[in-house]
Amino acid sequence: MITGTAGIGKREIAWWLSQTFLCERSGFSGSSHAAPSETEASLSFGFGFAEPASSTAEKVQPLSVSELPCGSCNACHKAISGSWIDFAEIAPDGDEDHAGSLKIEQFRKLKASQGFAAYDGHYKITVIRDADRLTLQAANSLLKILEEPPNGWLFLLTASDPSLLIPTLVSRCQKLRLAPLSRPILVQLLHEAKIPTDRLEVCADLAQGSYRKALQLSENDAWEKRAALFRFLDDPAAEISALTDWAASEDRNFKILMDQFEQILLDLVSLEGDPQQFAWKNLDGKRTLSRHAQSMISSLGNFDTARAFWLERSGRLFKMRQEVLAPLNRKILAQDFLAGWIAPPLMTRNPS
Ligand SMILES: [Zn+2]
Repeated sequence: MITGTAGIGKREIAWWLSQTFLCERSGFSGSSHAAPSETEASLSFGFGFAEPASSTAEKVQPLSVSELPCGSCNACHKAISGSWIDFAEIAPDGDEDHAGSLKIEQFRKLKASQGFAAYDGHYKITVIRDADRLTLQAANSLLKILEEPPNGWLFLLTASDPSLLIPTLVSRCQKLRLAPLSRPILVQLLHEAKIPTDRLEVCADLAQGSYRKALQLSENDAWEKRAALFRFLDDPAAEISALTDWAASEDRNFKILMDQFEQILLDLVSLEGDPQQFAWKNLDGKRTLSRHAQSMISSLGNFDTARAFWLERSGRLFKMRQEVLAPLNRKILAQDFLAGWIAPPLMTRNPS
């Protein structure tokens, strides 16, 4: 079970491991090497999620970890062309933004094929993506399979939040927890993805170690909307109507609104000391955020009440993420969220 925050490459690692296990030159598969029962022990090398097995470790050392998978054998070619026979992935329906659940029907077929051994290599691999989206029924069905896995079958699960999984399932798995990506690595990846330099640094700062988040933040429509969000913070009453209409017009816009405000509120809630001197992570909105913070502090009375307001807005945003999953009117939600910036300062503003 590979865990770690969303968008850091859990699935990519599951696929890389799969290819490595199936690669004919890796020592994990193929008849010229050790039998599965022996190679299983050697999974420990380099990956750190199995007990070291010194007695078998010397037997299987065809390639070093950095050379794996070889990329040129028959199995690797099948991996690259997507025609693996001994590999399957089970994933929730829907896309990343509206992921559904993993349902029991998806495991019935898996169960039905349990009698079949691996076709090409020693292993039959099933990647179960976003296992934290298993329905309870599906989780129990999978648990039964994991309790008595058919010989030669390997299961690789990914989960952003393993606390959502039933503990009996988690305890059946060896866990590999991935740390968030460091800033230099994120910057390098964004650079390779040809993200313009002006937004690259800001997005790397905002992404909290998630490559996918950094990419989403740096997409043109998301990035270009930031100017409008900063205008809104400068003058909420004048901008609310246009921003609400834009956010309500498309799912994608609504998501951008939530994602961007999450970044802005994170910055505001972390504010310490003089807003003008503060190291704002939303560097491109530094002046707006500093102005906004100063005006909130003076209109709400002091720093603590301003922070209480930003915390309350963050809580509202968190709730809105749940509410938007239900078929509610986006316009009402967006308006309700944005109007919070207008109401409290007007109510509490000192007439002098
Ligand atoms: Zn290979």
